[in-house]
Parts: sequence; structure tokens; C-alpha cells
Amino acid sequence: MDMKRPYSLVLLLSTAVYGFCLMNPNVSKVDTTKMVRPSTTAAIGKAADLARQLIRIESVTPNDNGCQAVVQQHLDKIGFASETLQYQDVTNLWAIRGDPKASPLVVFAGHTDVVTPGPLESWTHPPFEGVVEDGILYGRGAVDMKGGIASFVVALERFLSKHPDHDGSIGVILTSDEEGEAVFGTKEVVSELTRRGTVVDMCIVGEPSSISTTGDTVKVGRRGSLGGELMIHGIQGHVAYVKQITDCSVLLFAFLPNGSALSCQSSGSQNTFFYHPQIPASF
Ligand SMILES: [Zn+2]
Repeated sequence: MDMKRPYSLVLLLSTAVYGFCLMNPNVSKVDTTKMVRPSTTAAIGKAADLARQLIRIESVTPNDNGCQAVVQQHLDKIGFASETLQYQDVTNLWAIRGDPKASPLVVFAGHTDVVTPGPLESWTHPPFEGVVEDGILYGRGAVDMKGGIASFVVALERFLSKHPDHDGSIGVILTSDEEGEAVFGTKEVVSELTRRGTVVDMCIVGEPSSISTTGDTVKVGRRGSLGGELMIHGIQGHVAYVKQITDCSVLLFAFLPNGSALSCQSSGSQNTFFYHPQIPASF
């Protein structure tokens, strides 16, 4: 982190503090016992309330179903200019506070969609009620990632109340299609921002990254993937004359051991873009 950009650091830390997400995507544990300042406890309460409000909106991919409007109301109150970018059946929110050309532009990114809840009888509490029991928030998307969105919204509210005249600008990108095809979501928003000449200097993604304790792991990147099509040509012939034919499946198996060398780096490995000696890349 470039220390010449202190506000970015404050934002990141604020988000880490409020990021009460564990890896289970449907359960968020809110542990306030380690929080010493009442203002921090109050902020966590506000984040939990907003997360519950969002969980109660059934927003299965790609139907945002009004989640982004709820977030927009919060952002508008703290000086953001918001707009909805609708592409096909995907709803995206782009909100910015300050001049888009003012650097650094720090963007918080997230998604409001969730995957289907599956068998309802398997849930401890209904997936779209946002029940809190014994300090644990239950609901589809509690962690991935309505809890994360609520956390950075409240972190922004708190940060801006203390630093209304911050340097640079702050943006928020939300999409309703991250769990699905993700073709008309953040990718399209970034294309639109590029067309406008808006350059994002830093991006903080609200996906869950903690493993056992709040804020124990801050990732510096995300694993990628390389897709492609493999076409194997064989030679047809009569089964009685095996030596005159070439079986595609045999060629495929012959290819796989070598192909594995081309396959993605294993989860948790790093590349030159997302390298840090201590911090694993990928969620
Ligand atoms: Zn997610």
C-alpha cells in the first residue's frame, strides 16, 4: 500500500475491521467482544442491520430485486452520485463521490445477487429472513456478500463523517450477476468507465476472505482461469483393423499429462500481478 495515499489505507482498515465475514457464505458471526470502542460496536450493529435488510430481499442471480436501491439510498446521503447501468437482465450500480478524474480513485466492488437457496428444510433459519441468533447472522448471502457490502457502506459513512474533504475520489460498483454468467456485470461497467476515461487506481472487493477470525486474511488478488477448446482429430476405420485407425479418446488421454502443465496454477498460488511474499492470492 502506498503510504502517500493514507485515506485508502484508512478505508481498507475500516473495511477489514467491519468485515465480519467467515468463509461459510450463509453465516456471519458478529463478535463484538473484541471491540473496545462503543462507536465501533455501533458501526458493526449498523452493518449487521443493513446486511439483514439486504438478505431479506430475494435476489437470486441475475435479479437484483431492489437491493441496489437500498444501497443507493445510503450512498446518496453521504454525497455519492449514483446511476444504474442496465445491460440485458443485469442491473449494475455505479456510484461516485468526487470528481471521477480526481486521483486516486478508490473503488469498492461487490455483487448483490446470491445463488439459489437449495432445499429449505436444510436451513437452520429461513434463507431470506436474516435471523440473528447468539451473535450469528443466518441467511443466503450473509457472507457472500451482502455482509461485505453492508460493511463497506457503513465504513464509508463513518470515514466520510470524519474526512468529508478527502483527497481523490471514491467509487462503488455493484452488480446483480456475479454468481451466474457474469457477462453483463462488472465487466461491462468497467468497459463503460473506460469509455468515459475514468481510471480506477485501486479496488477493494468485499468478498469474504477471513478464515477463522475477523480480518485475519486480506487477499491481494484473485485467481484467474484460462479457458479454451481442444479439438482432437482421429482416423475412422473398422474395429477389426485397429492399427489403421486412430482413437480420439486415446489421443485425449495421451494429451492430458502434458496438458496439465498448461493448466492453471493451483489455488492459492500467485503470479507476477498478484504477488506478495506472505499473502496468498485468490479467494
Ligand atoms: Zn461473491
